[in-house]
Amino acid sequence: MSLATFLQPQAPRISPLQPKENPRRVQVDLLRIDEVHPLISGNKWYKLKYNLLKAQQEGFTTLLTFGGAYSNHILATAAAAKEAGFKAISIIRGEETLPLNPTLRQAAFLGMQLQYVSRALYRKKKEAGFIETLQQEHGSFYLVPEGGTNKVAIRGAEEILTEALVASYDYVVCAVGTGGTLTGLITKTNNYAKVVGIPVLKGHFLKQEVRNWLVAMKKEYVTNWELVTDYHFGGYAKYTRELIAFINNFKQQYQIPLDPVYTGKMMYAVMAMVANQKFEPNSKILAIHTGGLQGIAGFNKRFGHLIV
Ligand SMILES: *Cc1c(COP(=O)(O)O)cnc(C)c1O
Repeated sequence: MSLATFLQPQAPRISPLQPKENPRRVQVDLLRIDEVHPLISGNKWYKLKYNLLKAQQEGFTTLLTFGGAYSNHILATAAAAKEAGFKAISIIRGEETLPLNPTLRQAAFLGMQLQYVSRALYRKKKEAGFIETLQQEHGSFYLVPEGGTNKVAIRGAEEILTEALVASYDYVVCAVGTGGTLTGLITKTNNYAKVVGIPVLKGHFLKQEVRNWLVAMKKEYVTNWELVTDYHFGGYAKYTRELIAFINNFKQQYQIPLDPVYTGKMMYAVMAMVANQKFEPNSKILAIHTGGLQGIAGFNKRFGHLIV
């Protein structure tokens, strides 16, 4: 498939939800960007779009990126590179474990070259010296940062929303990892709807991180956003029985799968905030299903078959 074909998006559909506890009668809709591509999961498709275009325009034939062993971004990059005709290399944090987990097995099957580095070396992923060593080893490559966040990724994330969507909702809610996707949603809404981010990891650095990205995008005047930090469930890829039960019940009720790392926590947060009357009466909320469903198989293998 050519890059041009790959970059033709289908408009995502919207699934209306019916929160069980809804004292203020708010409207909750789920924007299904999980369906834009089976492997280039949800927000990762939008974040990669202009990176691929830029890589091609600048004459690169290889993409190199970084990630953890279960990363949605790694598999998305592998699939996008394959479809758009790039060679792909990923630098994986930690030691190789065989057999490969489902994420890395699929990435390797798509032709991605996997290179494992120690956690200590992995921490140098932004250092020029380490990048130069990688260039000597692999030749020139277009570097996609860990998690895929950079300015062109944010420009791609803006396209998750249309003007019509921005005008139709009071709130847009999204899971936050690096904050790249959230930044794109914030710049696109441009103060017209409030953007609420649900960090899926612990720590208070993300607010500053999003502010820094807004400055980089020259949009620091957009202030109608907030991070709600009560729903990380103990940290990145941590979970509780309550979260797992929520994900399984949600799937049973709506036939919509959620992943345990990002969208499960985001959706749990939305339903809890609706029940706890955190939104004004009759407000309209658009939650973003950012995908990540490829991670369920690896999660179930690691922790027992928790997600049905
Ligand atoms: C990567 C990812 C996110 C977080 O995106 P950021 O731009 O890093 O904040 C959210 N949801 C899913 C499913 C993801 O894979």
